[in-house]
Amino acid sequence: MGKKSLRSLNWVSRFLDQTPGDPIIGGLSRQVPGACWSRVLPTPVPDPIVRLWSTEIAGEVGLDVRDHNLLGGKEITYGMDPYAQRYGGHQFGNWAGQLGDGRAITLGEVDTGKKVLELQLKGSGVTPYSRFADGKAVLRSSIREFLCSEGMHHLGIPTTRALSLVTTGEEVVRDIMYDGRPEPEPGAVVCRVAESFIRFGSFQIHSMTGDFATLEKLVNYTIKQYFPEFSIDNDDEIINWLKKVAEDTALMIAHWMRVGFVHGVMNTDNMSILGLTIDYGPYGWLENFDFNWTPNTTDAVSKRYRYGNQPQIGAWNLARLLESISPLMEEPQKLHQVLEFYRNVYEDYNNTMWADKLGLYGFLPGDENLILELTSNLESSEIDMTIFFRLLSSITEPNVIELKYAFYNKNNISIDIWNLWLQKWWDRVKGNPDRDKMKLANPKYVLRNWMAQLAIDAAEKDDFSVANEIHEVLKRPYDEWPEYEEKWFKKRPEWAKNRVGCSMLSCSS
Ligand code: AMP
Ligand code: MG
Repeated sequence: MGKKSLRSLNWVSRFLDQTPGDPIIGGLSRQVPGACWSRVLPTPVPDPIVRLWSTEIAGEVGLDVRDHNLLGGKEITYGMDPYAQRYGGHQFGNWAGQLGDGRAITLGEVDTGKKVLELQLKGSGVTPYSRFADGKAVLRSSIREFLCSEGMHHLGIPTTRALSLVTTGEEVVRDIMYDGRPEPEPGAVVCRVAESFIRFGSFQIHSMTGDFATLEKLVNYTIKQYFPEFSIDNDDEIINWLKKVAEDTALMIAHWMRVGFVHGVMNTDNMSILGLTIDYGPYGWLENFDFNWTPNTTDAVSKRYRYGNQPQIGAWNLARLLESISPLMEEPQKLHQVLEFYRNVYEDYNNTMWADKLGLYGFLPGDENLILELTSNLESSEIDMTIFFRLLSSITEPNVIELKYAFYNKNNISIDIWNLWLQKWWDRVKGNPDRDKMKLANPKYVLRNWMAQLAIDAAEKDDFSVANEIHEVLKRPYDEWPEYEEKWFKKRPEWAKNRVGCSMLSCSS
């Protein structure tokens, strides 16, 4: 058998064939009423080199050749039909109008025989939706997207995937902290893979502009391709479809809460209709447990997208989606059911998630108090979330001394308070927590912000070994990996406390 390359895949173009598009081709920045997409080619780059590669997703796509030029957008091949998607969105609570793929270009859809996967380059030049920006991406944000999206997948969390990371041989100018000090940085392109990149905002743009005919076509397409068990025929069918979207969204967010992931920019244009974690920007992972934490400096004041607010924002975003679908309904007031449903499923997922994290053998009435006391202790103790739960999974007696490594300040452990809680938990599980469940709910390794930064620092010096090592560990995040324990099962080091990229991140990417 010959080597399988992007050139030999079975390319299809369902989205372009079945939804209305832009008659104009090319990347000139403009408004594109009535369209779901615009045809546009990637901008060629001087020296594309594949630096990171996901063997697993390559296998799913049906690839074993790392084609530098195609993955860097320097060339396209027969069968590809590249386009940028048009969508809108609410950004930080305000309607922002047309947004669209400003720095992402879908190469095409691949029919693997098992499913159809979309391959998309992020950072490969301007599209009609780039507004005043350059459509490019820098190495730092591309490494963060590659490692985190692959890591999320292996944590068992629905997400878009990353096939490759290519350095472009080109410099891109960015003002990281928006303080008037722009610097050239190495450019990169990530090839993302998902069944679809359709977002809540993909529907909103048509609804908000009163284009209900295009809205209906997009809803029809989405249901037919991705939710074939439903239809657009009547209110009940539409509601059942939206309940499925609500459920997928609730599950995704419950997973984020389980592992301490903060997306950072839950604008409606960053909410996948398939409930996939999408658009990795200024995301972060909790180190000390804190419901109020957000990594995104752009959101530092109102903290709209803080860790503890994510489930609520899921509901807010869903409400915007429901509003946008309402023109297709005979009795739109019925849509309230969907929000109600979201709240209930979220609560169920959340309870199960906590029961698993604590090895409770299922959630019982009354457990909410145990959980509430725990999170309040965690918040007041400056304690590392990942390490705490992992150590809790193998504790031999209800004594906080066994958890000492999780505390940021070992001289300041409120022993009585902690032992009181541990005893309550110990009694609840009769001295025998479900350790197997706990170890599958409490990962040992997550992509801490400073880990990503170490990978970036090395990569900027042309050394991708750190990124590759982290990629490897994150493929089995629930395993012990004794050889990596000292290096990566570790609280935030002192140097990372105030470093840009570790404790704070901007949207600049
Ligand atoms: P995000 O905050 O990444 O979800 O982006 C919001 C919008 O800005 C999306 O439409 C992006 O495609 C667009 N955008 C962000 N960065 C760039 C860039 N460097 N060039 C062009 N468009 C961009
Ligand atoms: Mg986005």
